[in-house]
Amino acid sequence: MFESLGNKLQDILERLQREKTLTDAQVKAAMREIRMALLEADVNFGVAKEFVARVSEKAVGQEVLGSLDAGQMVVKLVHDELIQTLGGESKQPTLKHEGNVVFMVGLQGAGKTTSTGKLAKFYKEKGRRVLLVAADTQRPAAREQLRTLGQQVGVPVLEVANGETPQQTKQRLQEALQKDFRDLVIVDTAGRLQIDEALMDQLADLQRELQPTETLLVVDAMTGQEALSVAKTFDERVHLSGLIITKMDGDARGGAALSARFVTGKPIYFAGTSEKLTGLEPFYPDRVAGRILG
Ligand code: GDP
Repeated sequence: MFESLGNKLQDILERLQREKTLTDAQVKAAMREIRMALLEADVNFGVAKEFVARVSEKAVGQEVLGSLDAGQMVVKLVHDELIQTLGGESKQPTLKHEGNVVFMVGLQGAGKTTSTGKLAKFYKEKGRRVLLVAADTQRPAAREQLRTLGQQVGVPVLEVANGETPQQTKQRLQEALQKDFRDLVIVDTAGRLQIDEALMDQLADLQRELQPTETLLVVDAMTGQEALSVAKTFDERVHLSGLIITKMDGDARGGAALSARFVTGKPIYFAGTSEKLTGLEPFYPDRVAGRILG
């Protein structure tokens, strides 16, 4: 049951092995180590603190259940709480029969365009008629990247023009959909290296026009601490419906996922696991919980 846990937790487990109940002092000692493990996994400091407080509250005075000893009990509580915080079960966006518009948002470099291509492939293979929209009105290179991905996946790409307004984009999208029926439109929006007001305004304007059924934030797992403020700001400005965590194939332990999920409360639907179009998997909270505990 606990084979995915790392040395740190195994140590705690062994130290508490012979205890029968969880006392305040035991829980405190264990939670110090847990907090360190979370910080090492790049979980945001405030999130780690709150998470530990939450588990401590549940743990102190807890009777040790049947076949478990006290150490196993602490680890079980931490593990269970991590899974819950990460969303419990693996979830997927609920798509309608038709009229789906998925808005992809995120900072430049997070893997937004790549994830847009991956999603197009994922849903095309499920029988969806996908249309991609390259909606960065300022960076022709971003549009070209999506055009290439569209060709690789075999789905059409509608490209916005330089300086096109959200109203014009909406109009062109409607015209395109009248000519060629598509049940899933995935919009790759503009990114910036950092959060800025102009970008947020632009995203909010386009969102108002296109009325997406899902707004997904793409978060780079390697950004660690920064994931919290990025997720918070995007959620405040464009009301996210879900998250995608990219670059989980790197050595990031998953702290960014926990922070982004914690601050938005929105489900993490997918994990990016390579640069290739096949590198998209459902997000499994239990696997990432094990990885965060290292
Ligand atoms: P955007 O600016 O957010 O659209 O980011 P891109 O889609 O252009 O991706 C930025 C870089 O990250 C590119 O080099 C991608 O190949 C890479 N990338 C995206 N997703 C993943 C992933 O899940 N794993 C790895 N290893 N690289 C990724």
